[in-house]
Amino acid sequence: MTEKERILASAEDELASRVRAAQISFRQKETDRQKRIAGLPEARARLAYIGMCLDRRALGMSINPQVKEIAGERNAALFTMSVSELEAEQEKTEKLIDELESAAPAGAEEEASGRYYCSVCRDEGYVTDANGIARRCVCFKEIFADKIKEASGLPEGEYELTAPAAGLYPETADRSRYGIPDSPRANAEKAYELARGFISASGPSAKKILFITGAVGVGKTHLACCVGNEAAKKSLYVVYSGIAAVLDALQNRFFNSEESQELYENRREFIETCDVLIIDDLGVENVTDKRYESLISLIDRRTACGLKTVITSNYGLAEIGNVYGERLASRFADRKNSLSLRLAGDDIRLIKNIGKHNFEKQ
Ligand SMILES: [Zn+2]
Repeated sequence: MTEKERILASAEDELASRVRAAQISFRQKETDRQKRIAGLPEARARLAYIGMCLDRRALGMSINPQVKEIAGERNAALFTMSVSELEAEQEKTEKLIDELESAAPAGAEEEASGRYYCSVCRDEGYVTDANGIARRCVCFKEIFADKIKEASGLPEGEYELTAPAAGLYPETADRSRYGIPDSPRANAEKAYELARGFISASGPSAKKILFITGAVGVGKTHLACCVGNEAAKKSLYVVYSGIAAVLDALQNRFFNSEESQELYENRREFIETCDVLIIDDLGVENVTDKRYESLISLIDRRTACGLKTVITSNYGLAEIGNVYGERLASRFADRKNSLSLRLAGDDIRLIKNIGKHNFEKQ
């Protein structure tokens, strides 16, 4: 089983078990509700005794005295009735049960909210769109997104690609300080908007590489994680990884146990074929590593297959060229396939700490 198959199957299992739990709880509630209707349990019991008497008559068997005792005074007459009397009594009791049940029906609202885990698709898992095409329902997509995130390696946190949080980026432009003409805030807003476009776009003309650069602490990893989260919401498979782990996974390695070998190969296949691969912090590793050729060919293979790759780095394009060589830099600089974003501002971790400090003082 590939990693993609495993994630899909675990989402399907999860939905099935939630649907099952909803059914069990609905049935329980329904039983409880019926028990609360006065006279209904007694009428049901009476109907059961009538059925028993008719069966016994048909077989020419007598009724066990203990049963008569349990049936009680109110049902005693049943045991001496003729078959035709029993049949009339049966009809009468069935009618009574119908009346009792319909006198206290489950409210329409209660029915819609209680009967199904998902009232949108009524637990079918699919909805039909305006063109008559069946699509996965939102109930499945939500679970699937969670499973994708779980398997992606994305760090814990709140990641929304809507807009950068207030207060994280300075509002005033200062070219000498931030190295950009706009204010860091306006620049970050633009970057988030472009990143949303990057992850929404599909088809051959869509860009396949997103390169996010900027100084330490300006929120590059956070933006990359927002992109990953958005991809998961769109049911796209995501891998988030440091560069060292990606390079490790691309090597040809051989293990003694079949299980370890399979795990390793599944991991490599997932890195190569996931819809969105996020490689965080290119540049922090040991640069003497000779395996960058495998990184370039991974990016080229993924781009050729229409898969998206996100890379964050403290290095700008010129430094990438100096440190890793022009071949890697040219992949990120290629405007046809790549989108390059630069975040600027003060160290966000620092801003957060100062903010906390001020808050505590007040
Ligand atoms: Zn649904």
